[in-house]
Amino acid sequence: ETLDKGLEKSKSTFFGKLSKAVAGKSKVDDEVLDNLEEVLVSCDVGVDTTLKIIDRIEARVAKDKYLGTDELNQILREEIAGLLSETHLGEDREISIPTGKKPYVIMVVGVNGVGKTTTIGKLAKQFKSKGLKVVLGAGDTFRAAAIDQLQVWAERVDVPIIKQKMGSDPASVAFDTLNFAVADDADVVLIDTAGRLHNKVNLMNELAKVKRVMQKVVADAPHDVLLVLDGSTGQNAFEQAKQFTKATDVTSLAVTKLDGTAKGGVVIGISDQFRIPVKYIGVGEGIDDLQVFNKYEFVDSFFK
Ligand code: GDP
Repeated sequence: ETLDKGLEKSKSTFFGKLSKAVAGKSKVDDEVLDNLEEVLVSCDVGVDTTLKIIDRIEARVAKDKYLGTDELNQILREEIAGLLSETHLGEDREISIPTGKKPYVIMVVGVNGVGKTTTIGKLAKQFKSKGLKVVLGAGDTFRAAAIDQLQVWAERVDVPIIKQKMGSDPASVAFDTLNFAVADDADVVLIDTAGRLHNKVNLMNELAKVKRVMQKVVADAPHDVLLVLDGSTGQNAFEQAKQFTKATDVTSLAVTKLDGTAKGGVVIGISDQFRIPVKYIGVGEGIDDLQVFNKYEFVDSFFK
């Protein structure tokens, strides 16, 4: 019974599904490719990126007619890492804070519930641990809970937070935060924002206004726009990426809640479709559960 349970679990992972897809086959043929397509889609890689991967594997099969299923693992790894490399130019790395750009301003966007506040808290901890002076700005003024939660994280990490009362202008909070950061000689500012998707024009206008007002204090702010997506929500995460990239210039991605899903393929699809690097992945609720994304480790974890 415990063995069955163990197998059940492995069957739900990418590798488990892949093993099933090639079971009894020695050669990569159309049926294997069809099964592989299904597996990739079921892991939330997304249809477009899945077809791209299948095309690439087909091309390799055409080149080497005797490609065996035992080689499929390796080829898939190479193709997936290759796809990720196209958006992760150079080395995989975290958001790096250049010296001489003080304060470095990171605007954090994303819809409620994806883990935006948690990610800001975890990032604040990472930056602080490097000896950087961090300031938080509670720009999600739409919900009282968002301000309170960010306050809790600010206390936990022991960094200053600039906030106003619920319903106040997010741009005004951002303005105050940057002024405080300049006066305080802070290195990094993390600005939270409200992510209300039900009104696209509002979202766009609000983010544009926050940017414009920040630039009155720091001319080239924000230096990074980090979009936080919930990795367990599959197609919703794709849709959110679409909306936010339309609304503002997203420069980095953080994909959360990958600890609770066997569907991490969303990382591959979103990175490929939107040509934006995934810099962080959330792997739990704790303060240290934010990892700098590493494409090789990620691809390997897929195959475990
Ligand atoms: P926000 O509304 O986007 O600010 O979302 P929160 O930061 O409040 O997070 C919503 C919930 O998701 C909270 O219960 C968090 O603890 C949880 N959460 C955030 N990131 C992760 C993660 O990487 N893994 C898991 N398992 N839970 C997470």
